[in-house]
Amino acid sequence: MFGNALKNLNDYCQEKSQRLRNSLSPSRSSQSSTNMSQSETNSEIPSPPTEMQPQNPAVSPENNKKEGMSRDEFRKFGKETVDYIVDYLETIHKRRVVPAIEPGYLKDLIPQEAPNRPESFETCMEDFEKLIMPGITHWQHPRFHAYFPAGNSFPSIIADMLSDAIGSVGFSWAACPAMTELELVVLDWFGKMIGLPKEFLPYTEDGKGGGVIQSSASECNFVTLLAARFEVMKELRQRFPFVEDGLLLSKLIAYCSKEAHSSVEKACMIGMVKLRILETDSKFRLRGETLRNAIQEDRNLGLIPFFVSTTLGTTSCCSFDVLSEIGPICKNNDLWLHVDAAYAGSAMICPEFRPLMNGIEYAMSFNTNPNKWMLLNFDCSTMWVRDRFKLTQALVVDPLYLQHSWAGESIDYRHWGIPLSRRFRSLKLWFVIRMYGVEGLQKYIREHVRLAKRFEMLLKNDARFEVINEVIMGLVCFRLKGDDKINKSLLTILNASGRIHMVPASLSDRYVIRFCVCAENATDKDIDTAFEIIAQTAEHVLHENAKSSIAEEDEEEAALEEMVQDLKIAENTNIFISPEEPEPLRTFKRQDSMPQKLERQLSKDELLAQKQQETLAKKRSFLVRMVSDPKCYNPKIVRHLNMANHRKMSQDLYRDRTMMQAISHGQRPNRLSQSPIGTSLNWETEDEDRIVAEVQTGVQTPL
Ligand SMILES: *Cc1c(COP(=O)(O)O)cnc(C)c1O
Repeated sequence: MFGNALKNLNDYCQEKSQRLRNSLSPSRSSQSSTNMSQSETNSEIPSPPTEMQPQNPAVSPENNKKEGMSRDEFRKFGKETVDYIVDYLETIHKRRVVPAIEPGYLKDLIPQEAPNRPESFETCMEDFEKLIMPGITHWQHPRFHAYFPAGNSFPSIIADMLSDAIGSVGFSWAACPAMTELELVVLDWFGKMIGLPKEFLPYTEDGKGGGVIQSSASECNFVTLLAARFEVMKELRQRFPFVEDGLLLSKLIAYCSKEAHSSVEKACMIGMVKLRILETDSKFRLRGETLRNAIQEDRNLGLIPFFVSTTLGTTSCCSFDVLSEIGPICKNNDLWLHVDAAYAGSAMICPEFRPLMNGIEYAMSFNTNPNKWMLLNFDCSTMWVRDRFKLTQALVVDPLYLQHSWAGESIDYRHWGIPLSRRFRSLKLWFVIRMYGVEGLQKYIREHVRLAKRFEMLLKNDARFEVINEVIMGLVCFRLKGDDKINKSLLTILNASGRIHMVPASLSDRYVIRFCVCAENATDKDIDTAFEIIAQTAEHVLHENAKSSIAEEDEEEAALEEMVQDLKIAENTNIFISPEEPEPLRTFKRQDSMPQKLERQLSKDELLAQKQQETLAKKRSFLVRMVSDPKCYNPKIVRHLNMANHRKMSQDLYRDRTMMQAISHGQRPNRLSQSPIGTSLNWETEDEDRIVAEVQTGVQTPL
């Protein structure tokens, strides 16, 4: 009976997918290609703009336009806006770095309904200055040291203006040829500038490599994961043709370090694969040995390792995973090695930093954001792959198209990412590279590194501070010697003052403050001023702290004891705690991660409420872009197989083997004609489970 139902389902699925295929692929591809060739052959070069007339005679002449903006008005206001931009940047240091407003500030300042009648440009600009500017965080402010730099430069702004004016949408070569071709050129340039192996570069003869601009590093992480997943699934499907995809998928496991960007976790979450977050060494780097052990352990558990996302220049502290160790392990185990160098990748244009990239020759994919550290305005996230076919096969929606893409003359970037529509982002990369020259960009990077070292030196000369990371690029992680609380106070007061802006990170379970050199033209004086502000505030915080301690110590002790009890209860109800995760208990016992000051003995309910709030706070900060606090990671995502899952899987595999045997005896069962659910296979011994797991995962013969 059950088999019958499944057969019906199977028929239904096949029929439906056939219908879909019929309705979509052939007609769509043939239609678009005929349209394309027609328009290519028939079209004439458009007349120059001066000869253009308004299409619709009913519309008032362009220059008397009442709605939007006339050409003459645009000339005028456009120039005024450029002046406004220059004035803004010139006087930006006079503003607060972060706004002094509260959530919802804007709602009551702006009408509840959109205007029916057109309004003037002047009133828009007036409101922009009056209402919007007070709510702006000024990322280009000389005292902005949070996150990473948000690239910004005049050549980039101008190129973006041109791109906006052209207003083309370049998803395929034909949709806007120059857009695709310039992207190829600049990715070849930039790839060479940062010393990528030639296999990655688009113009390498007989090469399979290629580069593409995505809108964010998160997208790069995601699409490379999809490519790796497709590749391993392809192989698994061949090996286990009767095991359902979902089951195969459930065995895949990816790796990254605990300092990897949260977008890696997000990619795995969306991609529905397990992620194991690995420990780092004392310099916050992922080492080969750690990865090797994890792979071994996971294979023994019956999992299938397939992907490693490494980081060159981690978000929290700009550490560099040791690629030269990790690379060979990925090669031996046939794992897709991805390198996320969102921030630090741009620095590789300076040859002295290239040794940090040793091992890149093992990578399958690499990404860096020139919109972070190479003066390009957001968005521009460049990404290269060693084998472009492996990327596009995971993202192409029309299988018929594959054959063309493989042999084709041109590149259709719509198959390289998630969105269809694409902006002309290569234009600003081209302008910036040309107008600064490689030398100019090298100078910019080196200057930022020098300034970071200067800041590090100032901290090291002050006994109250300690520097937590190895300062290699433009990022310094520091803290006041003392507990987390005092460091939190310091940062809160600094940010609230509006004079400077920084964000925290968590390193080795300690709260640290990140200081990043961000402004394009930052000077020694800027760095000294920043240090001065920090040092003065620290003095104040230390003083206040000395005044108000002592009294509550006993009460804190008692409240903590109860909290520990609560946590024990919570822990027992937790099905799985990753061995990689710090134990909550230990964490809470530590001095430096003590919860907020406890004024009096709290009731159990209050303690629970407080704990919930803390959990929420952690979840919230998890969403904050680029502030990676590994403790925010949800340990459940690193869920290993429990025994019940394992058994179910084994049954499925047993069925699979039975079917294979059946095939070899001349029968041909349907892929979905039998299910492990409902069948009562006598398959309970652990030994058999293990054997099956080995067959499935190929412990002896790595996939
Ligand atoms: C900033 C950063 C990201 C995220 O970049 P988006 O372009 O904002 O998605 C990813 N990885 C690392 C290492 C980063 O520093």
